[in-house]
Amino acid sequence: MLDSDFDLARARVETPGVHHVVHLNNAGASLAPQVVVDAVTDHLRTEALVGAYEAAERAQSAIDRAHGGIAELLNCRTEEVAILDSASRAWGMALASIPLMAGDRVLASPVEYGGNHVSLLHLTQRVGALLETLPVDNTGMVDVDELHNQLDERVRLIAVTHVPMHDGLVNPVARIGRLARAHGVLSLVDACQSVGQMPVNVRELDCDLLVGCGRKFLRGPRGTGFLYVRQELAHELTPPILGLDGVEWSSGTYRLAPGARRFETWESNCASRIGLGVAVDYALGWGVDRTWQRVRQLAEGLRRNVAGIPGVTVEDRGRERCGTVALTFEGLRPDRVRAALGRAGINTWVCLPNAACVDMQARRLDSLLRVSVHYYNSQEELDRLCSELESLAVGPPAKVLV
Ligand SMILES: *Cc1c(COP(=O)(O)O)cnc(C)c1O
Repeated sequence: MLDSDFDLARARVETPGVHHVVHLNNAGASLAPQVVVDAVTDHLRTEALVGAYEAAERAQSAIDRAHGGIAELLNCRTEEVAILDSASRAWGMALASIPLMAGDRVLASPVEYGGNHVSLLHLTQRVGALLETLPVDNTGMVDVDELHNQLDERVRLIAVTHVPMHDGLVNPVARIGRLARAHGVLSLVDACQSVGQMPVNVRELDCDLLVGCGRKFLRGPRGTGFLYVRQELAHELTPPILGLDGVEWSSGTYRLAPGARRFETWESNCASRIGLGVAVDYALGWGVDRTWQRVRQLAEGLRRNVAGIPGVTVEDRGRERCGTVALTFEGLRPDRVRAALGRAGINTWVCLPNAACVDMQARRLDSLLRVSVHYYNSQEELDRLCSELESLAVGPPAKVLV
């Protein structure tokens, strides 16, 4: 698919940020479309004019749409979705609600986000469970056959990151989910980087719990994350703390609310929640399949082009790869490259080992330059990136940037 086969002009007209910057930090936070910006700012203005509770009453259906939209996007039921103020909160709440016991085995992918990894360490150490790393093949993807061999009745949970923060690889989460289900093991998928970029269908993934992020490829507001909880499982999960929305009161006693709602608090940023619903509808309007096709194509072309620049190494692993491209440079530190690109009006990001502690440490990587594309990026923008990298990387390594 070339730029001409995709309505790039419309995508860019509807994205105010592209007129100011070449944004290749979509894995951090994508540029919001104008409709999302308008929805959020309109609601904030209404809150200021009529009162925040009163504004929420008027906007109830727009606020509710966030749950409905996410359910549509993930192919689940509205009651299976909880919205929280970050993906880390959603993931941590899910983990802490699983009744882990001493001696249980917990298996986690080596590309697990640093925050997930420390939460796993914290919880498994506290209860005396064992934290182990999932086996991977020589491309860095979870090796599902080897995982099968390692399962026994002590394995309680498999935590897997669909797409890591620092690398283009896509883990085979559907095969892992089916294997876990067949063995009665819980599966928790971190889909922060995949939701909005590629199809994420919880029925196909067959996972029990899945976490996503609003601000990344969904192009929603900051401070939004969500949790999918499989309906039949929800009643077995006990959140460590409760909010008023998570319980049902009756004459002095309480019951945990059914479904995913038990994970929610009463208070929320209504403007962000409305913006999240609008962002999901906007993503559905473009079509996740179409988005995925274009993102993959842009990233593949970029990998090919940067690989030809002297001194640049493409570090991405995996057989199937997504819109994130990880780079290192001979004789140049990624933070210096990022700063130079920033001066040229190009946004990228530097991933440090806390992006995925186990994997980056094992590969002895101190830092990577992360370039992440979205469907609204143009070929011309990627060509600009390449020519900037060429001017930085070519020549004697003793350049001033070192
Ligand atoms: C961004 C990210 C998170 C954390 O999301 P927050 O909303 O910042 O808490 C977790 N996992 C992955 C893979 C991420 O990319």
